[in-house]
Order: sequence, then C-alpha cells, then structure tokens
Amino acid sequence: MKLIRTGAEWNPLWLNHLQKKQQIGLVPTMGALHDGHLDLVIKSKATADLTVVSIFVNPTQFNNPEDFAKYPITLEADLQKLADERVDYVFLPSVETMYPAPTRLRFDFGDLERKLEGKFRPGHFNGVGVVVSKLFHLIRPQVAFFGQKDLQQVGIIKRLVNDLSFELKLEIVPTRREPDGLAMSSRNMRLSPIERKKAILLFTSLEKAKTELFAGKNWLEIQTQIKADFGNEPFANLEYFELVNPETFESYSQFDRYQKSFICVASYIGDTRLIDN
Ligand code: AMP
Repeated sequence: MKLIRTGAEWNPLWLNHLQKKQQIGLVPTMGALHDGHLDLVIKSKATADLTVVSIFVNPTQFNNPEDFAKYPITLEADLQKLADERVDYVFLPSVETMYPAPTRLRFDFGDLERKLEGKFRPGHFNGVGVVVSKLFHLIRPQVAFFGQKDLQQVGIIKRLVNDLSFELKLEIVPTRREPDGLAMSSRNMRLSPIERKKAILLFTSLEKAKTELFAGKNWLEIQTQIKADFGNEPFANLEYFELVNPETFESYSQFDRYQKSFICVASYIGDTRLIDN
C-alpha cells in the first residue's frame, strides 16, 4: 500500500495504470474508519482493478467549527485497516494541497440545498461539492463509491457528476449497522456509554415508522408520534423525521407503497449529531 500526498505524486502512477488499461476505484472518506467504510473498500476491490482510498477531513463541509474541531482522527488504525484490506493507494492530502487558496467557486444545488441536511447545515453541500470535485479531478477514477447512509449526499454527487460531466460511474453501498441497528458512523466514537444506548432511538424510530406505514397508518400521525417520542427523550434533540422522494428529497405528506420513498432522520444525541435513513 502506497501513501500519496499530492496530485503531482499521483500523476505518473495514474498514467502508468491508464496505459495498462487498469480501472481505478476511489473511496472518499474523512478517516476514523469503521466497517461501513470498509464495505465501500471491499466493493471497490471487487469492482475496479485498483483502489484509492482518500482520507481528508474537509474543513469546508463543516458548518459548525466545533464539530470540525472534535472530528475523530485515528490515522494509524485507519492505515492498518486499509493495509489489511490490501488497498493499493491511500491519498492523504494536506489542507494546503487541497486548498492552496480559498475556493471562490460556490456550488448551489438548488432545491436540494433547502431540504433536510441542506436546510440544517447551511454551506455543507457546497463544501462536499468542492472537495468531491477536487478529488475526482486529482485522482481521475473510473468508478467512485459512496454510502447510502448519507442519502442526500448521494443525490448531490449524482447531480455533480451529471452537471459537470465527470466521466465516471457511481456505486452506492448499503448502510452497515452495529448489532443493535445503530448505523455505523465515525461520530459514534464521541458518544458516552449512556448516549450510545440512547442513539438507538434513530434506528428504532425508523423501524417503527416503517412497520406502521405498511400496516396502513397515516404518515402524518406516525410522524407526530415519533416527534413526541424524541421530545420525551432528554438526550435527543430531533432536527427532522421526514418521508421523502429519494431523488428530489421532497417531503411526502402521505405514503404510497408503489412510490419509492425513504424516511430520513437527523437528531442530536447529547452533543453529537447523527443521521440515518
Ligand atoms: P465519511 O468518512 O463519514 O465522510 O464517509 C465516507 C463514506 O463512507 C461516505 O460515502 C459515507 O456515506 C460512507 N459511510 C459512512 N458510514 C457508513 C455506513 N455505516 N455504511 C456504509 N457506508 C458508510
């Protein structure tokens, strides 16, 4: 496994792989790797000829400076996990490499900016758009891997790829969960033992809502009940619990079992903001 820190280091390697007609898979991450990230790596290893994993805690996608300051960093353990998976390259750029000057270009993803994550994290998707574009330009993969856990991010990246004609394929990987159902997330490391127990509320509320929807209960009644459940949990602070169209992220006011729908949730548990769908 080779570590690369700049585009200049990668260029001759990229050219060499291109000449050999080898397909490059890119797995963008912010590190603090868990088995969910490794599912993306495993999928890339199975799909592409060689796999590049990037680790970069991107300052421009944090709308909350405290969240950025507290973001977990476990580089040594991350590199061990990636070596165990026989990853070919790890791209570890510095902030100066990624942002030699502040980026003036701004992304506006239109309606997606005003819903769910876009609404509650102003500027977040601009930061995602900038960093993912830079990674695509620097690494030039033929295929890139993203997790369904960040469902709206997937929508944003699909738009980015279409609107800017990136010549690559996107692969979306299902959410990996802990045995009790909690979606794996680097932020879970920040939960205290009691918060970790309470965090299961995101998963149980999704399951409860799904079961009730299929039993024919009215969505708005379900949503009201779930909001009350969160309201009754002192550790939780719910931001949204919405039934949405997974392409437009428009909220539905009623459930249609023949229409593709996702329930998306975001809640603080203590000081840690978690999402699931
Ligand atoms: P992050 O390091 O949080 O930016 O995540 C890097 C990539 O891993 C993103 O495409 C995420 O959607 C994906 N990811 C994060 N958590 C999970 C999970 N529990 N299961 C599957 N993919 C995940």
